[in-house]
Amino acid sequence: MSLLDHYADQLDSLKHQGQLRQFTSAQQDGRWIMVNDHQMLNLSSNDYLGLAQNTQLVEEFFDLMPTSAKRMSSSSSRLLTGNFAEYEALEQALSDAFLGRAALLFNSGYHMNIGILPALCDVRTLILSDKLIHASMIDGIRLSKAQYYRYRHNDLTHLEQLLSQYHGDDKFDRIIVVTESIFSMDGDETDLKALVAIKSRYTKVMLYVDEAHAIGVRGERGLGCAEQYAVIAQIDFLVGTFGKALASVGGYLICDPIIRTFLINHMRPLIFSTAQPPINMAWTQFIFSKMQDLNAQRLQLKQLSQQIQTDIRDLGYACPSSSHIVPIIIGEAQATIDKAKQLQQAGFYIMPVRPPTVPKGGSRLRVCLNTTVDQQDVINLLKHLAHSSFKS
Ligand SMILES: *Cc1c(COP(=O)(O)O)cnc(C)c1O
Repeated sequence: MSLLDHYADQLDSLKHQGQLRQFTSAQQDGRWIMVNDHQMLNLSSNDYLGLAQNTQLVEEFFDLMPTSAKRMSSSSSRLLTGNFAEYEALEQALSDAFLGRAALLFNSGYHMNIGILPALCDVRTLILSDKLIHASMIDGIRLSKAQYYRYRHNDLTHLEQLLSQYHGDDKFDRIIVVTESIFSMDGDETDLKALVAIKSRYTKVMLYVDEAHAIGVRGERGLGCAEQYAVIAQIDFLVGTFGKALASVGGYLICDPIIRTFLINHMRPLIFSTAQPPINMAWTQFIFSKMQDLNAQRLQLKQLSQQIQTDIRDLGYACPSSSHIVPIIIGEAQATIDKAKQLQQAGFYIMPVRPPTVPKGGSRLRVCLNTTVDQQDVINLLKHLAHSSFKS
């Protein structure tokens, strides 16, 4: 038996269960996506403000950049020779926007989430996390020395039960509560005001909140749910990514200056990885600045989101969303795959999401809205959805 058989067998079994992951070659063109010569409306994109597909912005940016600024590699970690002025300028812009708090940049949101918690946590740290946090935070928790319990999704009463159970335990010096603001699979959100109120009652508690799906989309200046609910100063570790609404790449942390310095000294993915190319930093700063003025687009996205949530519930589907990420919960995996296929044939690029990504019986179609989608698109989609539910 070849050593490869072990892996080939597992791939066969994934394929058999209809769970084999594959790259599909797709071309994106504005609001459209082409897969195998079939054009569909892209309802699976993270480009929530349509900025990544805005070629005018790209032209404007490159017109501003002299060739000397078009540096495509930093050639080292920021701790060696890779700390270009572009990093410090972007961190300053973030700091200015986020009420003067310190800012630290990372190569990606994944780097950020697998690096921060292992650096900050020792065996005397307890992590309490929402059950549905993103894989990157789960990996970060696993790499850390902390003890770890999960509370039921968005159930802050359960969180408080765990806190009252463990807060008095001398084994723990600190308790870090880890959550997302807008959740990537359910599109629902944590009540950040309530979370901050809980923190104020427990002296050992620090909050870690991932705004990957909220940055650019929430708050008057697009700074996320923390801005929307006026709790920027109360969240100890406020993180997010530039890879979604901000049309770029990278992660950021807003924190106390002590934490920033501590991470520069202890966070392995920051210390031991070549920093992003300076040109990317300059682009992120360009977009970060533009994005703050797009409140009209944010309001438009909000209205469209509310419309589709209502319409989906009116059709009789469960839909936990309160955001632009709108799952249509079908339940059974095969029925979900069939429905996704029907909608794709009808011209809507919507992906089915099944276990193990979501709990058993919770298979769903995941619709991601962006500002290039309009009311008529939603009306057309709902027509097809009603039609296909009638057929099955
Ligand atoms: C996408 C995502 C990340 C990863 O960010 P990248 O910049 O793509 O690596 C982290 N957390 C959450 C909640 C995400 O949705």
